[in-house]
Amino acid sequence: MNFLSNHIFSTLKTIPQGSDNRGTGLLLQAGFIRQEMAGVYIFLPMGLRVLRNIESIIRDELDAIGAQEILMTALGSKEHWMTTGRWDQEKMDILFHVPASRSKEYALNPTHEEIVTPLMNEFVRSYKNLPAAVYQFQTKFRNEVRAKSGLLRGREFLMKDLYSFHETSEHLDVYFEKVREAYVSIFNRLEIGDKTHYAFASGGAFSKYSYEFQTELGIGEDTLYVCDACGQKVNNELIQDNNFICPSCEHTSAHTITTSEVGNIFKLGDKFSKDFQLKTSTKDGSNIIPVMGCYGIGVSRLMGVIAEIFADDVGLIWPKAIAPYTDYILVQCDNKKSAIQLALQLEKSGKKVLIDDRDMGFGKKAKDADLFGIPNRIVISEKTLAKGGYELKVRGSSVETIVQYDFDI
Ligand code: ATP
Ligand code: MG
Repeated sequence: MNFLSNHIFSTLKTIPQGSDNRGTGLLLQAGFIRQEMAGVYIFLPMGLRVLRNIESIIRDELDAIGAQEILMTALGSKEHWMTTGRWDQEKMDILFHVPASRSKEYALNPTHEEIVTPLMNEFVRSYKNLPAAVYQFQTKFRNEVRAKSGLLRGREFLMKDLYSFHETSEHLDVYFEKVREAYVSIFNRLEIGDKTHYAFASGGAFSKYSYEFQTELGIGEDTLYVCDACGQKVNNELIQDNNFICPSCEHTSAHTITTSEVGNIFKLGDKFSKDFQLKTSTKDGSNIIPVMGCYGIGVSRLMGVIAEIFADDVGLIWPKAIAPYTDYILVQCDNKKSAIQLALQLEKSGKKVLIDDRDMGFGKKAKDADLFGIPNRIVISEKTLAKGGYELKVRGSSVETIVQYDFDI
């Protein structure tokens, strides 16, 4: 259990002026994040707990499809970026070039094909090593022209990126479907499954389409066309001259929704394996160039999206699975002992408890409780103790119930 009296990062009375949107404003007001500069954020303890909880749901689902977690580097070698042609500012305008001593230069990696492909060159020499899939949670750097909407578009942000290697494109197709299903589970567990759509997007040079996971959000940057006949979603970047033709059923009328891209999955073909001369021997002794898939999820963007979706007028509301704590206990000093006793009891059943033992009035504490968005608010006072229990209120509802202690206090 943790105590709010130890918490350094206090809340603000109101949403800071000039906040990009309600979600970001509330994250700042509640002391979950601070802005270091445009598009660059610091995660404070409560915010970090949310971020880590999102990570562990993703980790859980990716481990279940046999992917292995690694941690690559934030700095990249110029040589590797030259190998793929993406050092060139015209090819990749968001790449930060970092000058170093003796006229050396590095890249600040915005994505990791240039790191993972040469890495895997050492390990995928035989068909027996395939399929191979590795992923990481890594800070990415992108020189975005416009950073905006708080955590939604940063110049430094946390991404989960997964890369897979396969003997044939049929094998890639099979794994691709597994990742798609894992993503559906992830977004369901984050409680945004019903608002998150699988959409066709442009595929670049290597395949006809890429596929995006887009969450309905008024402040999102993307627009999806939704086919009026079959419901297929298509990113508007694929629609020419406002002329919609459904790629699934060829129907020609659609309506649009505004969304934010929370993840995407992409077939890379052999572009990077060719560039880095990956070679794998097959069963019959010949050599092939493995094909690759890459799969991203915007972890810090997701935190911003979820904050924005669920918040109400008085504060954040976190889905249970990612809330910084499951239970918040508001207690006045005299009753701290019974709060600790209850917390110990709750922790036995897997709850994560924050005790608000600060020396301040009930009103201020209750206001912060709403702001934090912790699912269960528990109040222990003389009044509730007299009734032999504590008061429970679920964030987002106005019903207060007295719960009797099922142990001696
Ligand atoms: P976008 O279309 O939003 O610019 P992208 O297509 O460049 O993103 P990827 O390179 O595939 O995205 O990155 C994987 C995921 O990382 C995206 O789906 C998104 O959720 C997240 N992401 C991308 N750029 C940013 C950013 N600047 N700030 C925060 N999250 C980002
Ligand atoms: Mg995109």
